[in-house]
Amino acid sequence: MASNVPSIRISRLNDQTICSGGRYVLYWMSSARRASWNFALDRAIDHAVALRLPLLVVETLACDSPWMNLRHAAMILDGMADNAKEFQRARIAYLPCVAADSQRLERFLDTVTRQAAVVVADWYPLREATELAALVAARSPVLVERVDSNGLLPLAATDRAFPTAHAFRRVLQRSLPDHLADLPSANPALPARFPRLDHFPVETARSCLVGIEQVLGNGPGLVAKHSTRPNVVRVALSGGSRGGHKAVARFLEGRLARYAHERNQPESDASSGLSPYLHHGHVSVHYVFAELARKQGWSPDRLADRASGSREGWWGMEPAAEAFLDELVTWREVGFNMCAHRTDYDDPESLPDWARSTLDEHAGDCRPYEYSLDEFRDGLTHDDLWNAAQRQLRSEGIIHNYLRMLWGKKILQWTPDWQTALETMVELNNTYAVDGCDPNSYSGIFWVLGRYDRAWGPERPVFGKIRYMSSANTARKVRVRNYIERYLQPDAG
Ligand SMILES: Cc1cc2nc3c(=O)[nH]c(=O)nc-3n(C[C@H](O)[C@H](O)[C@H](O)COP(=O)(O)OP(=O)(O)OC[C@H]3O[C@@H](n4cnc5c(N)ncnc54)[C@H](O)[C@@H]3O)c2cc1C
Repeated sequence: MASNVPSIRISRLNDQTICSGGRYVLYWMSSARRASWNFALDRAIDHAVALRLPLLVVETLACDSPWMNLRHAAMILDGMADNAKEFQRARIAYLPCVAADSQRLERFLDTVTRQAAVVVADWYPLREATELAALVAARSPVLVERVDSNGLLPLAATDRAFPTAHAFRRVLQRSLPDHLADLPSANPALPARFPRLDHFPVETARSCLVGIEQVLGNGPGLVAKHSTRPNVVRVALSGGSRGGHKAVARFLEGRLARYAHERNQPESDASSGLSPYLHHGHVSVHYVFAELARKQGWSPDRLADRASGSREGWWGMEPAAEAFLDELVTWREVGFNMCAHRTDYDDPESLPDWARSTLDEHAGDCRPYEYSLDEFRDGLTHDDLWNAAQRQLRSEGIIHNYLRMLWGKKILQWTPDWQTALETMVELNNTYAVDGCDPNSYSGIFWVLGRYDRAWGPERPVFGKIRYMSSANTARKVRVRNYIERYLQPDAG
């Protein structure tokens, strides 16, 4: 079958074949939640055209999935509303499904899969997603493929995880030139007068919510009822590709110019704020890259010849754009790469040996303060800057990147042992951060404990050789006075 989707991004999840008697081609959307710039959608369209069968896109959410709460669900529901409009415009059948629990989701997926000719699924490299995809594929009577729309570098272009960003950057610089021209479609569409699905699978209608109005109306209530974290409320930020694309434009037209110099300033608002949209798949990294390249008047002949692994100078763009790409591509994708190649990405044992040894050697050190999970959650430590960061996380679902690092380092210092610190960071980050439950949640949290880093001196209590950060030093390096005032107001967080 002719396909514009690079074969390196496609893999089979079972040994079944395509069933030409199926009613439709099914695209099961679970992480690349967007109606354009999406390799999986492109692949499903290719199948539909080759088989001359209608295309059905189902987008799913299970209310009881780990850390699911109203905050995460609201972003996804916003995205579903956008997707419903986009797919209607493209005349593609779209069925959003909010299932009360994972068993119901599995039943729904079994139902829609059984009537398909072939199934295309997203490849998201976190465990729950890969396990569910494997389960669906094992039960499917037809071929299930998974497609990788995660990053500029296909996950299958490497066969291992990398210990440092530098090592990964060198590989990126060697390999990316072969992949940069491969872009997903900006306006995916079926040919004119193509067969359309006239009605949805009947059983589906009975057992699940169908119709975008029902999903938007009932979804929040269902999530509140079935989530294991029912008290976490939604934040002001709206999800969805429309808002995401506007955020890209606002950043590239305005704040990018200040990015290289001011991105570490919490009071400056110089970073992109794109991580919630990237995390929910509402914005594609290919879209961000293409927009940036267009604005920079960039073409691949500007790439440096030598893959030195250096942070600057390889792309051949302005310094601010290069600094941004180093975060968007190197740092973002090293985390995806880790999760794709190491199933133990969230296991304490996955830390480098030097980091575990030094943390263990200092396990018995006296902690200057110790706080419980509830005290951390409510921002009730002795440290105003830390409390302000935690309250921003609770009220807005984000913490500025620089303070996010400090936030983690202090949790390490103020918990009885580093394993508890790890659990506390994962719990708070994945519950409250609108970009939480992402491969980069684990990159960031494990970075606090030494992943991607090196040993630092002098050796300190509790930290050992792990990089140390303090609120006092942070306050000297970056402006935080207004930040603290703002988030320690009684009504913040
Ligand atoms: C303890 C801790 C927890 C973190 N948890 C998450 C998380 O749950 N989800 C998440 O997406 N990121 C996480 N990060 C990484 C980083 O803090 C955020 O990606 C960044 O703050 C997002 O803001 P932005 O979109 O304005 O970033 P920008 O500076 O504008 O960067 C653009 C994009 O590059 C990527 N990026 C930027 N910095 C990093 C980084 N240090 N590591 C990996 N990717 C990066 C993000 O996708 C980001 O949207 C965490 C970092 C730490 C230290």
